This record gives sequence, C-alpha cells and structure tokens, in this order.
Amino acid sequence: MSERTIYLDHAATTPLDPRVLEAMLPYLTEHYGNPSSIHRQGRAALQALDDAREQVALVLGCSRREVIFTGGGSESINLAVKGAALARRAAGAQAHLIVSAIEHHAVLHAGEYLQQQHGFEVTLLPVDEGGLVRPDHLRAALRPDTALVSVMYANNEIGTIQPIAELGAICREAGVPLHTDAVQAAGVLPLDVEALKVDYLSLTAHKFYGPKGVGVLYARRGAPLLPQINGGAQERRRRAGTENVAGIVGLAAALTLAEERRPAAMERMRTLRERLIDGVLAAVPDSWLNGDRVQRLPGNANLGFAGIEGESLLLLLDQAGICASSGSACTSGSLEPSHVLLALGLSPAAANASVRFSLGHGVIEADITYVLETLPPLVARLRAVVAQGAEREPIAA
Ligand SMILES: *Cc1c(COP(=O)(O)O)cnc(C)c1O
Repeated sequence: MSERTIYLDHAATTPLDPRVLEAMLPYLTEHYGNPSSIHRQGRAALQALDDAREQVALVLGCSRREVIFTGGGSESINLAVKGAALARRAAGAQAHLIVSAIEHHAVLHAGEYLQQQHGFEVTLLPVDEGGLVRPDHLRAALRPDTALVSVMYANNEIGTIQPIAELGAICREAGVPLHTDAVQAAGVLPLDVEALKVDYLSLTAHKFYGPKGVGVLYARRGAPLLPQINGGAQERRRRAGTENVAGIVGLAAALTLAEERRPAAMERMRTLRERLIDGVLAAVPDSWLNGDRVQRLPGNANLGFAGIEGESLLLLLDQAGICASSGSACTSGSLEPSHVLLALGLSPAAANASVRFSLGHGVIEADITYVLETLPPLVARLRAVVAQGAEREPIAA
C-alpha cells in the first residue's frame, strides 16, 4: 500500500474547504437555534439563513424567494422532476417527460417512478458519440402534453457540457419548463439562470468543497412545484423540515468561494487534465478518451483501456495511492456497464474497461506526473494476466 494519496475523484465528492468549516462552526455550537423560533436564538439562525439565501441568489442571478434549500443533489432533483411534473399534470393533461439518456440516476429513477406510479410517458433523448444532446432532437421530442424537460448541465462520468441555453430557448418557445442538474457545473461553469434560460436548477454543496447532505433547488417564480416533503411551512412551503442551518451556511460560503476561484481554477485544471489525457493516450496502446474533447468539464478525464476490467485497474491504482472511479455499478455480483458510456455507443466490454479521473483544487503537477508513471505498467500487468488466462482457458475447459 502506498503512503501517498492522490485524490482524483472530485466528481464523486470534494474535501471540505477549511474556510467553509470555519463559517459553519458557530452554527454547530453557540448559534443552535431553530430558525422558526421567535426568540433571539431563533432570530440568529434565521438571519444566517437569510444571508445564505442572499449569497446563493447572487451567484444564480435570481431572487431570494426562488432559492430552496434541500438535503442534497438527489433531493433537489426529485423535488424538481416529480414536483414540477406532478404540478403540471394536476393543472392540465400533461403526462409526458423528456430526459437525456445520460442523466444521473436521480433524474432517471425519478422519471421511472413517474412512469410506474403516475402513468407518465418518458422520452429518453439520445446523445451523439461525444455525449452531446442535439437541440433538434429535443425539438422533435417535444409534445403538446410535455410536462417537463430535464437535461443535465455537465455529465458526472464523461464531463460533457450540454448547450443548456439553446435547449432552454427551445423549451420556452414550446412553453415547457426546463430543469437542469447543475451539480457538476458549480465552481466550473457560469450558473446565471437567466442566461441559461432554465426554470429549475439543482446543486449540491459537497461537489464544490462544501458539506455533504445539503443542496439547492432554484425554482423560477411562478414555476409549478408540488412539495415532495410535507410538514411545516419552511422554505415557503416547498420543503418542510427544520433547516440544516450550519450546512446551508456552509453551502453558501462554498458557492461564493467557488465562484471567486472559478476563472483561475478552470484554466489550471484544464492544463493538468490535458497533460493527463495526452500522457495516457501516448503511453498506453489501445487506450481512448470517452466524451467530447472540447465541450468538457476542465477536470474530467474518462479513459478506456482495451482488454481490461476498469474495476481491476481501480484496485491497483488504489494500492498505488491513486483514488479514481468508474461509472460501473456492481449489482448482484455482476458488473453493470455505465448507462452513460452505453449511450455513447460503447460496447458493454468497452464501457467496463473505462476509468474516470476527476481533478480538483488540491491536484498538482507532480500528481499527474506520478499517475503517468504509475498507470501504464498497471494496464500492461492487467493485460498480461488476461492474456495468460486466455492461454490457459482450453485446459480448464
Ligand atoms: C453527485 C451528483 C448528484 C447527486 O447529488 P447528491 O448530493 O449526492 O445527492 C446528482 N447529479 C449529479 C450530476 C451528480 O454528480
């Protein structure tokens, strides 16, 4: 086991920024009030909540009342997709949903729920081989009974950035609201909801150096939304439950910091990422890059290595101190290839031969050098094992 840890899994989660922790601490200690209480402790908590809402609204370019605090990305997405679709259906006959084929499972499974429990019809928008949604495909999929469109801003596995403003304009023309899962975009891409032409936008703090378990849903004023958690009147009756005050303070601090760091961080990360991609493609024969090379998050490198299991490579990388990830999920003992990579047209074997590296603020040049030294021999080792296994196979059979 290597002593060294090189964390290249920022798309899964990011470390908490010490400045964010510092902003949160008073609300985990002396300011413990419930924001709904009228006494001084409650008022202090409510003030913190108001300030955080103002900070978030500033980054999104929206009004404070359009900001809903939630328990994270999955909750924001569920509130948007189910809440908007069910509200639209209650108001009319709309029972059709359009989502891209490469959405996060939070969107895809919320869509399946609407289909199975509420009789919705769901159209999956295909993507091209780089992972991009074509605006004309959206135009063709829209129907008079479409309740909602949901297309992610940037993909978590392959980093592809979608033309959200263009898709937003098409939705507006058709009078259909658009939700975007912007979880991977925060701190990297502009989040101005007017420029993006979206009606709902989801964020989660732990993807931009904030705490886990706290998120935001932006919901445009007047956009239909049925609450998915019932109870008290918090968040203007759109999300019941005592607010996670410290978490919300942390989210707002993290988002403000992320926005400040964004231009410089983007450049720095893109340079490191290009070095990683070029270095791996040059050093490892039969390797390839998944996803569009240009319309891509600056920190994402999703690479495939013919003839190996990505999961095996991840274990060897971990022993060498490198933390990376794959889109595959292990369901009942067998490896399910990533739905995102399959949607690009990859075979199940090629999908399972892929590994995602996602960079973040803490990554330095020397880390990339170490990966470029470490990775090629590990791939060669795995391929040698596979070749030996193939030789032995006739004997075993
Ligand atoms: C991480 C992630 C989510 C889920 O966010 P949680 O806060 O973990 O629930 C949703 N969408 C994308 C694109 C993500 O990367």
